[in-house]
Amino acid sequence: MPALEDEVPKVVVETIAEVKRRRQTAPAELKKRLPLGPLKTVHVYWLAGMSCDGCSIAVTGATNPGIEGLLAGVVPAMPKVVLQHPVLAVDAGAAFVETYRTAWRGELGAPYVVVYEGSIADERIAARTGGYFSAMGVEPREGFAQEQPVPTAEWLRRMAPGAAAVIAIGTCATWGGIPAAEGNPTAAMSVMDFLGKDFRSAFGLPVINIPGCAPVGDNFTETVFAVLLFLQGLGPLPAFDELGRPAWLFTETVHQGCTRAGYYEEGTFAKHYGDAECLVDVGCWGPVVNCNIVKRGAINHMGGCMKAGGICIGCTMPGFPDKFAPFYKTPPGALVSTTASKSMGFFIRRLRRLSNRETNRERRWDVNAAVPSGWANVQAQTLMDKAIHYFYEKWQQFGARKQGRRPSEQKWLWGGDRPGVRSDYHDDSATKEDRNG
Ligand code: SF4
Ligand code: SF4
Repeated sequence: MPALEDEVPKVVVETIAEVKRRRQTAPAELKKRLPLGPLKTVHVYWLAGMSCDGCSIAVTGATNPGIEGLLAGVVPAMPKVVLQHPVLAVDAGAAFVETYRTAWRGELGAPYVVVYEGSIADERIAARTGGYFSAMGVEPREGFAQEQPVPTAEWLRRMAPGAAAVIAIGTCATWGGIPAAEGNPTAAMSVMDFLGKDFRSAFGLPVINIPGCAPVGDNFTETVFAVLLFLQGLGPLPAFDELGRPAWLFTETVHQGCTRAGYYEEGTFAKHYGDAECLVDVGCWGPVVNCNIVKRGAINHMGGCMKAGGICIGCTMPGFPDKFAPFYKTPPGALVSTTASKSMGFFIRRLRRLSNRETNRERRWDVNAAVPSGWANVQAQTLMDKAIHYFYEKWQQFGARKQGRRPSEQKWLWGGDRPGVRSDYHDDSATKEDRNG
């Protein structure tokens, strides 16, 4: 492939060279200028590459903390967040873009965070035909009579080195996502791929990745909250895993927190969408996917893929979508584990139903051999049930002091029966009389 400088219009080439110089010098300079300790204001610059805006929508649904609280500066210990967002901003046109230039030039006087949504196309491909894939604002460019769009990739290249932190939100920005799927014409890539392994923000952080398609809004605001606490000097740097994901949010698999995991363990599986059981046979990848949406809920602790009846297609994972397609087929690895859980589950299920039936009975009903429910006839204990539970209870109580009174404790000191002893269960005539008036 020809060198970048050969293909990109000249103004961009100059900018790249300029930014390369900035990369080497700006972080240290900016660090000196940036206020340390408790901050009053932090600016957030949102950039959107090849995205569907789903990440923006997800973030507006966040509740803990909510985006409104951060913007209003009412979240305790948080600086006020000033958000520059292409969709949500009040300013438009040149005035809006100028705020980005202010940050790029290092004239903001306050730290800023860059948030990138969507994947980054290789703009050299579009530049070959004089076009672009995703851009924000216009600038004069040599060889063109009119001002030309500035690719958002270029904005990222300009602003990332001076940012306190660069956050990639959503799977397109974190790993390339759907625009980077096999056969795509744009050579789309993630923020991490674009900025490279050696990239560090002005505060020394590699790219922070919050994946999901769309991501859980609270995962984003909570991470911003944690990073701002760190920048405030009020908290430690939050733990990130080796791929820059917030470790406390993405270590466990979907399956480990799934509301249907009990069905998997007992070997019962849905045959169709809409069935209540585990969805692995209809294509769920939850056991091998790092995601917390079922535990946390999609919005305000509600929803989440399996709770809403959907399978996991691995949308938070770097291998998404190619390594999880086709989405409608059972993952091959699931055949091994489901065969094991089906055979174990056959016995486990039956034993649990037995215990479940037993623990759904009051002790009084056992003694009286009747369940006074007016709703339906409750099946009486069979001889086999009684025998099984006799031995089960012996095992259960083995080595422990059984609850209730000892025979010696069932009498008052002067010899009379204490009330509430087990033999009282046989005499519920008083109850019957009361009931019959
Ligand atoms: S539906 Fe998916 S995540 Fe939930 S228990 Fe089944 S395999 Fe695991
Ligand atoms: S459960 Fe799976 S499909 Fe749903 S958000 Fe998480 S990774 Fe994506």
